[in-house]
Amino acid sequence: MAEIQLDNISKRFEDGTEVLKDVSLTIGDGEFFILLGPSGCGKSTLLNIIVGLETATTGEVRVDGRSINDLDPKDRNMAMVFQSYAIYPHMSVGDNLAFPLKLAGMGKKEIEERIATAAHVLELGDLLHRMPRSLSGGQRQRVAMGRAIVRQPDAFLLDEPLSSLDAKLRNQMRGEIARLHEQLATTMVYVTHDQTEATTLGQRLAVLHRGRLQQVGTPRELYNTPANRFVAGFIGSPP
Ligand code: ADP
Ligand code: MG
Repeated sequence: MAEIQLDNISKRFEDGTEVLKDVSLTIGDGEFFILLGPSGCGKSTLLNIIVGLETATTGEVRVDGRSINDLDPKDRNMAMVFQSYAIYPHMSVGDNLAFPLKLAGMGKKEIEERIATAAHVLELGDLLHRMPRSLSGGQRQRVAMGRAIVRQPDAFLLDEPLSSLDAKLRNQMRGEIARLHEQLATTMVYVTHDQTEATTLGQRLAVLHRGRLQQVGTPRELYNTPANRFVAGFIGSPP
C-alpha cells in the first residue's frame, strides 16, 4: 500500500507544449482516487509521471514520503491498466497472467498461487486456458486487471480502463472495480473523463482543466461547493 504525493508537478514536452502546470496533491494510502477532466487536459500525462513512463519537467513524486523521481518504473511497484487491454493475443489467459512474474524470475509455485488468487478475485478461473481472441471485451479487461493484480503492487493506476466497452458492460465493470478495491484495499488512481463514472466510483476526485488542478474533494464537496465555474459545469448533476 502507498500514499502518493505530487509536489508542484509541471510538464513541458519537447515541442514546447506545457501540459501540466504546478499540480500538487496527495493520494491517501488505500484510497480510490479519481483524476477527472476533459480529453487533452493532461490526465494520462500525470498518470504516466506517477508510474514513471514520463518524467516531470519540474516537481517531485513521493511514495510514502520517499522521492521516486529517479526510481526506475520497475522499482516503483505500481501496476498500470490501460484503456486498450494490452494482453498478449498469442498466449492463453493463464500464460498472460504468469508472464510478468516469470520475467521477474519468480518460482513456479508462487506464480501458481498468485494466479489462483487473482483468478478468484476476478472470477477468471474458468478462463485460464482460453485464448484472448475467444474472450468478450469485459473478460479481456478482467484479464488485463488480473495481470496487474498478480504483481501485488502498492498502487494501481487505471487510465480510462472502461472507455472501450459498451454502456452495459461498463456499468457492470464499474461494480467489479469497486469490489476489487474493497477486497484489495490498495491505493487506486483512476483516470476518466466521465463525470458519472468519477462520482460513483471515487472517494475523492481531482478535477483537471488545461493542465491545472481546479479542485480536490469528495463528489459531494465538488457538487455542493465547486471552486469555480469550470468545476460546477463539469460535475453537472448531483452525485
Ligand atoms: P488526457 O489524458 O487528459 O486526454 P494527455 O495527458 O494525453 O491528456 O495529453 C495532454 C496534452 O498533452 C494534449 O494536448 C496532448 O496532445 C499533449 N501531449 C501528450 N503527449 C505528448 C507528447 N509526447 N508530446 C507533445 N504533446 C503531448
Ligand atoms: Mg488520456
